[in-house]
Amino acid sequence: MQRKAKRMRAEIIRITDCKKCRREILRAGELLRAGELVAFPTETVYGLGGNALDQNASKKIYQAKGRPSDNPLIVHIAEVESLAKIVVDVPEKVRRLAEACWPGPLTVILPKNGRVPYETTGGLDSVAVRMPDHPVAMALIQAGGGFVAAPSANTSGRPSPTLASHVAEDLGWAIPMILDGGPVGIGLESTIVDFTEEIPTVLRPGAVSLDELRGYVGEVRLDRGLLREDAGIRPKAPGMKYRHYAPKAELTIMAGTDEAVARAINRRIQEGEAARKKVGVLCVSENAALYRGGVCRCIGSRSDGEAIARNLYRCLREFDECQVDAIYSEAFEAPRIGPAIMNRLLKAAGRRVIRCTDEGDEEERK
Ligand code: AMP
Ligand code: MG
Repeated sequence: MQRKAKRMRAEIIRITDCKKCRREILRAGELLRAGELVAFPTETVYGLGGNALDQNASKKIYQAKGRPSDNPLIVHIAEVESLAKIVVDVPEKVRRLAEACWPGPLTVILPKNGRVPYETTGGLDSVAVRMPDHPVAMALIQAGGGFVAAPSANTSGRPSPTLASHVAEDLGWAIPMILDGGPVGIGLESTIVDFTEEIPTVLRPGAVSLDELRGYVGEVRLDRGLLREDAGIRPKAPGMKYRHYAPKAELTIMAGTDEAVARAINRRIQEGEAARKKVGVLCVSENAALYRGGVCRCIGSRSDGEAIARNLYRCLREFDECQVDAIYSEAFEAPRIGPAIMNRLLKAAGRRVIRCTDEGDEEERK
């Protein structure tokens, strides 16, 4: 702990009101303009921002996160009109979608123009763009020049940050400033839609659902790599091929009826205790009483998908803090945001799922 505290470099600035904190935001914007990095809150997760039009700033982002340099960054803008300044063309469909969903948790991918360096797009000829729905993010993007490349502000591979303290834990030693806007609202990364394809394709599910997208742009399909990752299909979003969102201990998803899952997890807690291993359990609050021992974290009520989304990454990080040896999670069903929750949970689990039935448990890969 002490070593970490000594190495902390970042100034952490609490922003409660953008108007009152105008000077701090301008100072953060100056850092961005000078090629430095600033972490900031958005409505999805905290982002690690750098000037998207500055190749050296993008290189710094990869370095700070330990992110593979072929994993492109999302460019954040503060006005819909900025989109046209960094892409070849804005098709009518995209304009309509952006008008409807921005600011909000939606990222679109289009062919880039020459203003966007390849360092920002991981060498691709397309660029991912989003306008975040958060006053601090908006104010910072404006102060920083209008185009801010920002992946999630975590060490690559770890659960994304939903609190400023998560950012400080992972990157506090590597960056000069963190803007603390309190807990984020959604807690999962944006929906990504690729418009470089004939039919718009969802590369990452998020809070904007497939049905909503179809309502705005008509036919939309899901990237095949999203549907089954073990079929040897390369996901189109380079980032989706990496282990992601993961706590340090091995995570396994337990699927089945509440009773069968509780029985299977309780057996593992007992076996863990016998072997002096700490077992973590992630469950909905309605089921907490079913588990005997272990380190139990309630993710929220089963009827509240938004709470489950908001709490997922924090709970995974708390298991790290408790230094559990293994984690077992229930599978979570929720309307709208449900596919995004299960997408992240499956990735964090390396797609390890155990189906629990009265007859016994069986491992399957999703
Ligand atoms: P993060 O920045 O951590 O939220 O991750 C951004 C995601 O967007 C990664 O999975 C990237 O692979 C994906 N992405 C960004 N730009 C592109 C692009 N031009 N084409 C395909 N996927 C992209
Ligand atoms: Mg990320």
